[in-house]
Amino acid sequence: MLMRSSESSPPAFQWDDWYASIGGRNINDADMNQLLKDIKRKQYPRFRGEVSAQQQPFASPAEAAKAIKDKALALGAGDAGIAEIEPSDIYKGREIHDRYAIVVGQRMHWKAFQQVPSHESALECLRVYWSLGEVVIGLAEYIRSLGYACTVEHPLGDSDVLHIPLALKAGFGELGRHGSIIHPKMGPLFRLGSVITSMPLQTDSPIDAGIAKFCDHCKACRKYCPADAIPDERSPEAGKDHLGHDRYVVDTGRCFPYFSKHYYCSICLPVCVYQHKEWARDFEGFTTKLWPDIDMQEPPEPKDTDTGTHWYPRLKR
Ligand code: SF4
Ligand code: SF4
Repeated sequence: MLMRSSESSPPAFQWDDWYASIGGRNINDADMNQLLKDIKRKQYPRFRGEVSAQQQPFASPAEAAKAIKDKALALGAGDAGIAEIEPSDIYKGREIHDRYAIVVGQRMHWKAFQQVPSHESALECLRVYWSLGEVVIGLAEYIRSLGYACTVEHPLGDSDVLHIPLALKAGFGELGRHGSIIHPKMGPLFRLGSVITSMPLQTDSPIDAGIAKFCDHCKACRKYCPADAIPDERSPEAGKDHLGHDRYVVDTGRCFPYFSKHYYCSICLPVCVYQHKEWARDFEGFTTKLWPDIDMQEPPEPKDTDTGTHWYPRLKR
């Protein structure tokens, strides 16, 4: 099992027990195991560090927030935002005393998701866990050098905080039907991590990019999900999202067993229409297929027979 950010904290979720209940972890790949080992051996020991005795003054929380976000981008984040941590953002049984989360995201390469699920797509998830891990560790070192204490919440591992609700509050985008955030520039193919601190920072606000409205018309991820885990309708009983919409609730009891046995699945991400909007910018000069190969026994028939792709409603976006 991977580490937790606080040695004394109980695990947020009993992953070992859970994997045992579904017949064990089936993904056993040398490249992936090496990356997991590297994260554990080379990154975890760098989670902690000395806080400078000299505290850097900032003219305002807004100026401090700008310095921190600029640093995150310089370290390789695709986006960075700041949210105030609320009790609902903390895993049950955990206790944290920091006030803010600096959320960072990093894009995964579309190229690796042209066939899903695959060794290549799973390896890309882990590559970004490593690479984004370097961003959060570097950002924490920077914050400590400014004289402020902070804690690394690694993208892979047993964090104290829930990255997704924090990222939504920090302006990363909207929650798609598939349960992942769709970012207006990075699309859905990115990973999240954070650094938490009480350094005075100006927070960001949630954004409404019209994505929730679009999801109500598009069901591509729902149709392509091999585990039938993505819902047809929103679930009013599950409470509202940060924009006041009823939530789409992904059936994790169906998703996780499939996900854990099939290279982290990920089908719902490259088939998401918002990925199509973004990939061309990502791979300028690189010839991509217009649609990933999906390793399913009975994939749904494409509705657009000319291009062989699924049909999406054309809304003004
Ligand atoms: S990861 Fe796979 S199984 Fe899980 S919701 Fe997405 S498409 Fe479905
Ligand atoms: S595939 Fe369509 S319905 Fe699913 S999250 Fe993306 S935009 Fe929303």
